[in-house]
Amino acid sequence: MITEDKMDKRIPVRTCIGCNNEFPKKDLFRFVRKTDEAGMTDSIIIDTSGALHGRGCYLCRNMDCLEKALKKRSFERTFKDPVPERIKEDIREEFKRLTQE
Ligand SMILES: [Zn+2]
Repeated sequence: MITEDKMDKRIPVRTCIGCNNEFPKKDLFRFVRKTDEAGMTDSIIIDTSGALHGRGCYLCRNMDCLEKALKKRSFERTFKDPVPERIKEDIREEFKRLTQE
């Protein structure tokens, strides 16, 4: 758990693609799409380092928002590409792993 150092009104906020509310960027998971050579979605990974390049989107660290985002096809909208079921399963697995820590 990271402790709050000090409140800063200028802290960057991002919108969760599940619940559409704004939260401090650091409280959200960032998702980044990896593409293959043909530019198709190869995988969608959770950028825990915050250093990955590419188009990204943000999500609250709870399963409800992930399920909402999957149901609403928010990933498809963000990446403007279909997201295969196996990638969605990968996202779920990774999300579970990270939120159980
Ligand atoms: Zn949310």
